[in-house]
Amino acid sequence: MSIAVALDGPAGAGKSSIAKRAAKALGYIYVDTGALYRTIGLAASRRNIEPVASAALDEMLASIRVDLTFNDKEEQIVLLDGEDVSGIIRTPEASMMASKISAVPSVRAYLLDLQRNMAKTHHVIMDGRDIGTVVLPDAQVKIFLTATPEARAERRYKELVEKGMDVNFEDVLQDVITRDYQDTHRDIAPLKQAEDSIVVDTTKLDFEQSVEKIISVIKENR
Ligand code: C5P
Repeated sequence: MSIAVALDGPAGAGKSSIAKRAAKALGYIYVDTGALYRTIGLAASRRNIEPVASAALDEMLASIRVDLTFNDKEEQIVLLDGEDVSGIIRTPEASMMASKISAVPSVRAYLLDLQRNMAKTHHVIMDGRDIGTVVLPDAQVKIFLTATPEARAERRYKELVEKGMDVNFEDVLQDVITRDYQDTHRDIAPLKQAEDSIVVDTTKLDFEQSVEKIISVIKENR
């Protein structure tokens, strides 16, 4: 039977970079579900669909194709109608659009099978908001990874600056706070800790310590 690790938590807790490293060390596949919501958000903004919850959105969902695949470095690639969009879904605008679109029930339903199918065929660490509660409620290991908003904004800010983006810290912090609010207050699949999850707070841990911690939690509980 394949092993599933559900890794949930707020934006910027370091889920993706930590999970990628832990997955590599354990020989699991890392699945970034946020990228799927970002991809749907991109498809909707390209069609100027506003408001997002609309018949136009449902028509779009019926006509697009989203695929998850991996390159030779085991990095996840998302394809939107065959186009590799893995890079362009990483802007702050795409983050906001993803957060908005992820509150639409038809979008969540659309992505559910795609996510579950990945876990059927591989050992996975799946990163998201509702993996332990909705997508993989039977995951062997459930982790809720968190850190203070300031610590999370600081990390995201550094990441964006390293990518050469022109951003200021206050805007990034405000984005983190707004997204936390949107993600925890929506009616459908709000970000919330699964009752049987293990909380890991990375505010005071550096990257290497966080990776170590996650690996040991997985090994002890799988
Ligand atoms: O994790 P990431 O920041 O890429 O996620 C982008 C947005 O997609 C989040 O703000 C969240 O609203 C949404 N999301 C979600 N459920 C998931 C993963 C992401 O609602 N499983």
